[in-house]
Amino acid sequence: MKFLEVRSVFKSYGSIRALRGVSISVDKGEYLCILGPTGAGKTTLLKIIAGLIKPDRGRVLIEGFDVTDLPPELRSVSYMPQGYALFLHMSVWDNVSYGLRVRGLPLDRAEEALKMVGLYHRRFSRVYELSGGQQQRVALARAIAAEAKLLLLDEPLSALDALLNLELRHELRRLAKSLGLTVLHVTHNTEEALSIADRVVILRKGVVQQVGRPSEIYLKPANIFTASFLSEVNVLEGLARVSGEKSVVDVRGLGKLVLEKPSTKASHVVVIYRPEDVLVSSNTPSYKVNVFKGEVRSIEFLGLFSRLRIQVNGLEIIADLWSGEDRGLKEDSRVYVYFDPRLALVYPYPREGLHVELYEGGG
Ligand code: ATP
Repeated sequence: MKFLEVRSVFKSYGSIRALRGVSISVDKGEYLCILGPTGAGKTTLLKIIAGLIKPDRGRVLIEGFDVTDLPPELRSVSYMPQGYALFLHMSVWDNVSYGLRVRGLPLDRAEEALKMVGLYHRRFSRVYELSGGQQQRVALARAIAAEAKLLLLDEPLSALDALLNLELRHELRRLAKSLGLTVLHVTHNTEEALSIADRVVILRKGVVQQVGRPSEIYLKPANIFTASFLSEVNVLEGLARVSGEKSVVDVRGLGKLVLEKPSTKASHVVVIYRPEDVLVSSNTPSYKVNVFKGEVRSIEFLGLFSRLRIQVNGLEIIADLWSGEDRGLKEDSRVYVYFDPRLALVYPYPREGLHVELYEGGG
């Protein structure tokens, strides 16, 4: 039996179809991230699981029990909303321990949760005295302290600066695992989702696009939307024809690319290359195919690697080079760009058009 099951849930607000047949199942103790662009339906899904809004259709089951018609307080679910909903004039301690006190439970968990978010020393402060990021940590502590088996977190780390976000995301996972909690964590931050989730659900326009382990999602995105939402990628459009064991794609603006025979039978295709999969060199590479001449337009230093934008024929190609490998390259440098036939992600050209597929993720 799954710990949580969402079965074919639909929800509309007037003419806006926020959820269109969403089904997910979650194991006990699993850390699941729901990732999607703004307006995808993430908050609506969490609120339906929490019992704060009713679905138009579909069911929610917790531990095999149908809770669709139960009020939030009878679901053993702790929900941390995006806007925190803290009592601003109460102390940090009173906010975090509130749920435990109301139910007459011991307060150790409130203390532990406050220590985890690094605010135990501020327990006597009023919430309004704290910064936005600190308030977010109080809300997180309150959600953890509530002793619910299912934790629903709506963008729990979004107001934190980058370093605190990194620190707290791993603390959050560690704590959830040590307490045996099942967590649904909503975010639009790809890196956050991929780095802490056991599995990721990609939601777009109220429809689940893909569910899988972070590495599966990243390495084998199910569609163009997922591939391009996860990171900045090269999106190439072309006409493909099969030639023996290979496929040759005539890419608009670039030229001919020879690929391993793609899984799609479509002739109008979209080929995606991640920047780290594009090889750049100053010397002529030894490869027989897929080598193009280009000129570096810009180099963006990003710490571990640099991102190059290279003009290749009529296209701008992005490619990542490990820091240290870009020695001598500068703007206007002439380079060779190589596309490895095995690393292409190939999809049929989308019916709604490429622009809609790439940029319209909301409901
Ligand atoms: P965000 O990341 O911006 O919070 P989201 O993925 O959580 O977005 P939802 O808040 O679930 O998305 O919204 C899904 C769609 O439903 C959006 O188009 C939104 O405008 C609409 N919506 C949400 N709540 C309401 C409401 N109470 N009344 C009308 N429309 C709503």
